[in-house]
Amino acid sequence: MAQDFYQTLGVAREADTEEIRKAYRKLARKHHPDLNPGDKAAEDRFKKVQEAYDVLSDPKKKQMYDQVGFYSENGMPAGAGAGAGAREQGPHMGFGGFDFSDVFSRGAGSGAASSGGSRGGGASGAASGNFQDIFSQWFGRQHGEGPGVTQQKGSDLEYGLNIDFWQAIKGTQVRLKISRQESCPVCGGTGERAGSNTVCPECNGSGSVTQQSGAMRFNLTCPRCEGTGRLTNRCGNCGGDGRISTTESVEVRIPPGAQQGSRLRVGGKGNAGTMGGPPGDLYITVRVDPHPFFRRQGDDIEITVPVRIDEAGLGAKIEVPTIDGRALLKIPQGTHNGQKFRLREKGVLNSRTNKRGDQIVDVQVLAPVVQDERTKELLREYAQLHPEDPREAIWAQGVNP
Ligand SMILES: [Zn+2]
Ligand SMILES: [Zn+2]
Repeated sequence: MAQDFYQTLGVAREADTEEIRKAYRKLARKHHPDLNPGDKAAEDRFKKVQEAYDVLSDPKKKQMYDQVGFYSENGMPAGAGAGAGAREQGPHMGFGGFDFSDVFSRGAGSGAASSGGSRGGGASGAASGNFQDIFSQWFGRQHGEGPGVTQQKGSDLEYGLNIDFWQAIKGTQVRLKISRQESCPVCGGTGERAGSNTVCPECNGSGSVTQQSGAMRFNLTCPRCEGTGRLTNRCGNCGGDGRISTTESVEVRIPPGAQQGSRLRVGGKGNAGTMGGPPGDLYITVRVDPHPFFRRQGDDIEITVPVRIDEAGLGAKIEVPTIDGRALLKIPQGTHNGQKFRLREKGVLNSRTNKRGDQIVDVQVLAPVVQDERTKELLREYAQLHPEDPREAIWAQGVNP
């Protein structure tokens, strides 16, 4: 089942790069395996979202997807070129059952625009129907991403970071080891060996050669230079990719008040771009470990505090823990179980608003543990003084309809 990539990302077909990016970010965050541990369905959705974004974020893949309704790394699937000649190579590739006219006309125009002239004579054959050339734009060159790959922005990296409760509140600085692709320092990201750039003798730099087949003449992409018109030796350090994998130590400052799921962007620390294109960004999703009794509710801190019945009944001044240390809380006379009290500005400092949240104290009235005779006597005495039924309000509602 081919998925509709636009539907997967929940965007319209006219959506621009930024909208697609935003939609991807939102969904990737929602379904990220780090945030949904053990959830197989979320993992599948995450993969689908990534697959969709992989195609729609890449201008060439998107162009193909928009035009023919699918994208394949391996070229046209057998079904697309359903004619008998589909499996043949070279200029006799079959076109049966597939309308290529639209592909040709649009492919030629945008190919020339996106190449920015850097591909030399390679695109010139497209106008006269050189389909191989158009395919090579979509599928990349058969021999891998050698010289001639266009400049593209590097991909973003996602990283999950666990911090503890106090680090989240006070802010922290952490060193992360990030595996990323870096621009090759030897060739400067071009993938070419320095000084090896010469005119291709096969095509005299035009990037295309003419082939005779019976009475027909065909323009083909020059097989020797792969249409670039230049012969280059690949950089030995990166194998012509222009990028190398490295593990880099990145210093990240988590601002005070970070919340569960906060996302931080570290600009330029994603993967390097191709052919000296700009690098992507590094995105860090923060996970905060829970505290034994402090609970974060945004910038507020909630805590459950047990009180005795005499404290609740008579009123008392009790000490409660806050993130600053002990604080005094006045429990009024007649406080009941579950009653909440607010300690203003004893919550978390939000580094964006520079304001502190509150601490909410949730009172839990404890029933006394009665083992001695004297306490039992006191409670019996209390019962005699207060014979009223505490369930009266319930009975008043009527048990049966
Ligand atoms: Zn290199
Ligand atoms: Zn050539």
